[in-house]
Amino acid sequence: MAVERTLSIIKPDAVAKNVIGQIYTRFESNGLKIVASKMKWLSRQEAEAFYAVHKERPFFKDLVDFMVSGPVQVQVLEGENAIMKNRELMGATDPKKAAKGTIRADFAQSIDANAVHGSDSPETAAVEIAFFFPQMNVYSR
Ligand code: UDP
Repeated sequence: MAVERTLSIIKPDAVAKNVIGQIYTRFESNGLKIVASKMKWLSRQEAEAFYAVHKERPFFKDLVDFMVSGPVQVQVLEGENAIMKNRELMGATDPKKAAKGTIRADFAQSIDANAVHGSDSPETAAVEIAFFFPQMNVYSR
């Protein structure tokens, strides 16, 4: 297995719930290292650009509204198989369908306010990491 990096976002609902630390502990205790991190309040333009792949979907406007409703905590996670590992820790998109003990099962309330984002492929991870962090602001060791 390769060491990978993935882009993770703790969304406005989870930031408002004051569970950034609890979610970070899940990453750290499962072999994912936080190698870049910042809090940011996205502009509408930034949220639309980040989720551009979904722009034709019926939920796009609600998704953008939600993502700009408060600050988010954005991080790069590094580790063996980091992309899939983070997706497993997150759980299914709909928290009602998320496996017990996953971040979404424990902290999310609905399919739109679902606590976390995680890149879903190496290609997406590269684009999403570059969207938020210039290479010089990622600290691998
Ligand atoms: N989403 C939504 N309604 C839906 C499907 C998705 O609001 O019916 C939102 C949800 O916040 C989700 C995001 O759009 O996290 C991106 O959807 P995707 O299918 O990529 O899910 P993810 O990769 O986040 O699990």
